[in-house]
Amino acid sequence: MPAGPFLVVGLARSGEAAARLLAERGETVIGADAAGSDRLSEVAERLSAIGVEVQLHAADLALLARAETLVKSPGVPAEAPLVTGARKRGMPVLGELELAWRLLSNEFIAVTGTNGKTTTTEWIAHIHRVAGAPVATAGNVGTALSSLVDRVDPAATIVAECSSFQLEDCVAFSPEAAVLLNLSPDHLDRHHSFAAYRDAKHRIFAHQRPTDVAVLPEGYQVPTRARQVRFGGVAETAVTLPGRHNRANAAAAAAVCLARGLAPDAVTEGLLSFRGVPHRLELVSDRDGIRYVNDSKATNVDSTLTALAAVPAGVHLILGGQGKAQDFGPLVDAVAARCAAVYLIGEDAEQIGRTLARAGVPIIHAGELADAVEAARVAVRRSAAPAPVTILLSPACASFDQFADFEARGDAFRELVR
Ligand code: ADP
Repeated sequence: MPAGPFLVVGLARSGEAAARLLAERGETVIGADAAGSDRLSEVAERLSAIGVEVQLHAADLALLARAETLVKSPGVPAEAPLVTGARKRGMPVLGELELAWRLLSNEFIAVTGTNGKTTTTEWIAHIHRVAGAPVATAGNVGTALSSLVDRVDPAATIVAECSSFQLEDCVAFSPEAAVLLNLSPDHLDRHHSFAAYRDAKHRIFAHQRPTDVAVLPEGYQVPTRARQVRFGGVAETAVTLPGRHNRANAAAAAAVCLARGLAPDAVTEGLLSFRGVPHRLELVSDRDGIRYVNDSKATNVDSTLTALAAVPAGVHLILGGQGKAQDFGPLVDAVAARCAAVYLIGEDAEQIGRTLARAGVPIIHAGELADAVEAARVAVRRSAAPAPVTILLSPACASFDQFADFEARGDAFRELVR
């Protein structure tokens, strides 16, 4: 157990859970956040009620003098003044994941990668359930790891989805199994260079022991003392989820479960019976010759390219939202090859429309999601294309202009389809 008093910096989901866990253990805790939104005021109220001193709009480095250990939420950048200040003083800085891991005696399967983390984490957990092995999921998937401390069955294997932001603040984190799914440039706004992003991801292996397992894509090299297991893909018939990317996710899930000693029969069954995670190429409805697919999680161009490769051609694609200054050019060829029409929604529709004009397919400026779904439905009804036809929401954009988050956007799509 690191030494208190604790200063928890960043009070989103993980930070709140860490502050709560420490307070419940009788530690002195100060929670600080540089911002001060309505949501943070609610967090502050909840934490104050359990004895945590909360500082919103926190900028005063004097807070550091009142703590022995700083706990950093994954959302807080390494350059945050409190964090750099703590390092300058030689104060230990622990990520929330590291803190919670130190307080849990469970065995860990940690999953990282640029894409497919949530899907593969849930898939591994599903295989454990099929095998009758106790399991819990945590991390980036939505449940902060801290919230499992003192609550989870010590016999359960914890499958932890680890983002680069959680891994960069790991000090001794040493999971019994670590999975790296893939790596491509992402989050360079926070990590500044691909090398720094890659190094953060590789920390998942840094403290593993020779008795641990490192699961890696074929041909991928990392410095590690753990036993290395490599994965490629599985046959199309072995899984129900669409796309080559999901066959890679399946192979990674199978590899780690087999390496951990789960029964091959259970692994096979768990690969076949997994139904996927909401908002990732989720089949919402398959009726009267129209398949509605919700891929609201596709918030960048790469994810939408993955989706277009995973569903049959002739797609009616709903696209748009906040474009995050991306280049939509890489979509042109895929839209030309795979789409019957594109329906644009959201803030950056004009810009996306100009780029996609070169694809030579009809582009409909629908504005709202409801209008896009309706226009696509009418177009499919009128078309002579052989059934089934796919209407795909895979926006390649953030949702915040029209929705609270990508989940709300996907939920709205599901409702509209129903
Ligand atoms: P993450 O948790 O890493 O964001 P998800 O499982 O939520 O990953 O999937 C997000 C999107 O990434 C999916 O909609 C899909 O388009 C894409 N994706 C999933 N798995 C892979 C993979 N193995 N390789 C490339 N893209 C993938």
